Amino acid sequence: MGMGGSRYFHSATSAHNTQYIGSRQYISRTESRMAASSSPELVQAHVELWNLTYSYLKSMALQCAVELGIPNAIHRSGGAASLPDLLANLPVPQARKPYLPRLVRFLVVTGVLALDAPVATGDSGVYRLTPLSRLLVDDARANGCTSLAPFVLAQTNRYHVGAAMHLSEWFKGGGDDDDTPFRMAHGTDQWDAWRRDPQVNKVFMDGLGSDSQLTLDFVVTRCGEVFDSVGTLVDVGGGNGSTARAIARAFPHVRCSVLDLSHVIGDIQPSDGVQYIVGDMMSSIPPADAVLLKHVLHDWNDEDCVKILTQCKKAILSEKPSGGKVIIIDTVVGSPANDIMFQAQVTFDLNMMVTTPGRERDEHEWRNIFMAAGFRHHKTRTVLGFLSLIELYP
Ligand code: SAH
Repeated sequence: MGMGGSRYFHSATSAHNTQYIGSRQYISRTESRMAASSSPELVQAHVELWNLTYSYLKSMALQCAVELGIPNAIHRSGGAASLPDLLANLPVPQARKPYLPRLVRFLVVTGVLALDAPVATGDSGVYRLTPLSRLLVDDARANGCTSLAPFVLAQTNRYHVGAAMHLSEWFKGGGDDDDTPFRMAHGTDQWDAWRRDPQVNKVFMDGLGSDSQLTLDFVVTRCGEVFDSVGTLVDVGGGNGSTARAIARAFPHVRCSVLDLSHVIGDIQPSDGVQYIVGDMMSSIPPADAVLLKHVLHDWNDEDCVKILTQCKKAILSEKPSGGKVIIIDTVVGSPANDIMFQAQVTFDLNMMVTTPGRERDEHEWRNIFMAAGFRHHKTRTVLGFLSLIELYP
């Protein structure tokens, strides 16, 4: 050992390097480091920190799997595909093929794909779909439900990911008081950004539309009675009309229309009995027995929610002075009381913080805005996992 080593040894055991650990006990800092490094807790914390630090790559790998069509390719190979099958069928040029095994290995580790162990040396095994990636297959008959691949692309769009990069700067006071991280990143709010960028507008609306089809399958089968006494319904902020069309198909007695902004529905022709009305929900909502708000109120702060709900109240009372109702499909944070559902709700809430002035609300927060808008009672039920359906009455 040279001079440097012996100097280190002396300083590590000097009084200066001791640490107080109890009423009479001192241990050297070297010993304390050794104790810490052999602690299973620290080892666990270290690996968890690494995994969390890189967890944005889970989103990006999922987006990449959808863009490359990996779930579709496995589905087309009969539900199981070897690495050579994938290499032959995916739109990956020769120079990038050597990287593919590393991407699919990551997709296996994150639960997007399953891997049957290799049966022989040199065999790379067979990749299968998992219940999660079955939700990403375009062929609807494969799942008995709609593909959520467009939803993945919509929610990992470059505007949202770019906005998330501004979260800490925003917290430290960057931008104006009423800015969102989205506005800091892109100079405008989400709806205006979509108006200016028709391509992303389409990706976003197609994505929400795909999610609406799945959600409405559950609404129709689990709580169809919500629509029993409804003759006319307007889906406010109804996006590309997926929800309204699903309601019109399942309940032909309901005459449905969609109210949304001109860049969202201006070019959509009436179909499946659904009418499209360009308008601003803040200033007027057409009369109807029921007003539906799906994933709309979570985009807005309490004050704007009260404005929207006040317009909803006018719309249902002018159609039926005795009643009518507002139907809200959104999350009620904490309901159901279940860890994985709660995780989805608070993640979704952070997404709203990044992209809008809105939030996901708990039961108490919902009740406050209902009362402020003059509604007297409501009934809440879980409709699909972490999503609830609320019927709201004046
Ligand atoms: N209800 C749909 C879309 C939710 S996204 C679904 O669940 O899939 C919110 C919608 O509100 C978007 O379609 C957006 O264009 C619309 N929107 C935003 N501001 C609006 C306004 N002032 N008036 C009407 N619609 C508006």
